Amino acid sequence: MQEEKEKSLNVKIRKGDKVKILSGKDRGREGEVARVLTREGKVIISGVNMVKHFTKKTKDGPGGIVEVEAPLQVSKVGVVCPKCKKVSRLSRDRTCRRCGAKIDEK
Ligand SMILES: [Zn+2]
Repeated sequence: MQEEKEKSLNVKIRKGDKVKILSGKDRGREGEVARVLTREGKVIISGVNMVKHFTKKTKDGPGGIVEVEAPLQVSKVGVVCPKCKKVSRLSRDRTCRRCGAKIDEK
């Protein structure tokens, strides 16, 4: 069922997490999660994966090219543990599997 599918995406990444891009053109870059699109299994990371958008002229501006962040697949990013500073897989309660630190405890 639809609900089951959404659950199986199992998005552990949250807004404000520091992540590293694992694949694609921005591979190796780090950024902070600006938004999590749970349904799509994607995240938007500040300043990463920028794409150009053409905007029409409006009363507010002359229009032209603006750069916006395109969502990235969750599978293409890894959460960076604030303690060991490495990309880590998180366990169910968002604990770093490398050093055991809880991601949410700052
Ligand atoms: Zn760690």
